[in-house]
Amino acid sequence: MYSLDKIRENRGSKLDLVELLTAAGGLQQELFARAREVRRQHHGDKVLLRGVIEISSHCQKNCSYCTMRSANKSLDRYSLHPGEILALAENISNAGLETVFLQGGQNPFNDQCLEQVIPVIKHDMNLEVLLCLGERPKSVYEKFARLGADSYILKFETSDPELYQDMAHASLANRLQCISWIKEAGLKLGTGNIIGLPNQTLNTIAEDIILALRIQPDFISCSPFTPGGNTPFQHFPAGGLSLTLNTMAIYRIFMPSALIPTVSALETLQKGGQRMGLDAGANVMTINFTPREKRELYKIYTEQRFVVSLDHVQQTAEKAGLRIQKRTHASHQA
Ligand code: SF4
Repeated sequence: MYSLDKIRENRGSKLDLVELLTAAGGLQQELFARAREVRRQHHGDKVLLRGVIEISSHCQKNCSYCTMRSANKSLDRYSLHPGEILALAENISNAGLETVFLQGGQNPFNDQCLEQVIPVIKHDMNLEVLLCLGERPKSVYEKFARLGADSYILKFETSDPELYQDMAHASLANRLQCISWIKEAGLKLGTGNIIGLPNQTLNTIAEDIILALRIQPDFISCSPFTPGGNTPFQHFPAGGLSLTLNTMAIYRIFMPSALIPTVSALETLQKGGQRMGLDAGANVMTINFTPREKRELYKIYTEQRFVVSLDHVQQTAEKAGLRIQKRTHASHQA
């Protein structure tokens, strides 16, 4: 049987990674058990929580898998006002969460609003601010850091420049440059890849892992490809659950201290998918605080998205034998 110890000795070998990516049966169980043990040693039994607010569905980019792509003129677009965002951040605080995750399409018109809300969330509410707002100039990442943002997620999505160009209609080199700028701005960095993209191979995913190891992010995530409606990729099949979980477990073993989310797209693929993500070594869950009527317009990956609630997170963590980490002084309101 293929041995995990051999993989550790040859850390980063592409052949070994491909072998692990296809792990099934006993080897897969060994892989997941090892990932859980690494998580236990580095993070204990805690699941960290983030509260996401999807601040705007306007986007300049035209990614081929995403319903929010700029070419999709049939989507009603919205942007939340600063007052709405702050009220939602207050809900996140009252629910006992420590991190407000502001996510939106790539859209510089949100900057004025962000200049108002980031300092209040960080300094008045005393919460961590995590951003996911796309590719921006270095000076903008520096401004976000000065305003009080703690961290920023920008997935490289794939390590294959041609695949990235075909899918995102933009250059991977520029995206990787932005990833460097985020780090240089002093923000903690989250990045990661998508599993199951059209024309992606196992070799490409192994290269993704090698790229992630080179970047050494603070958070690493991996999501299954989910084809959005009204997109050029809408008829391609979704990414595989097993391959996504194997990638997550490999990330956990090779990047022990990184935070790894079990993303809602896993639950969309299969009921119980997020619990499987925890079983594969993940330690972060994100609860959605976007108002329902706006949430339905935020179609980043798919129309049939699973919306994560606090109850779902509690039950999922419990089933995985873990406990959620909340602030002790907060009142539960969600
Ligand atoms: S994936 Fe993100 S950057 Fe690409 S079109 Fe969708 S919202 Fe915009």
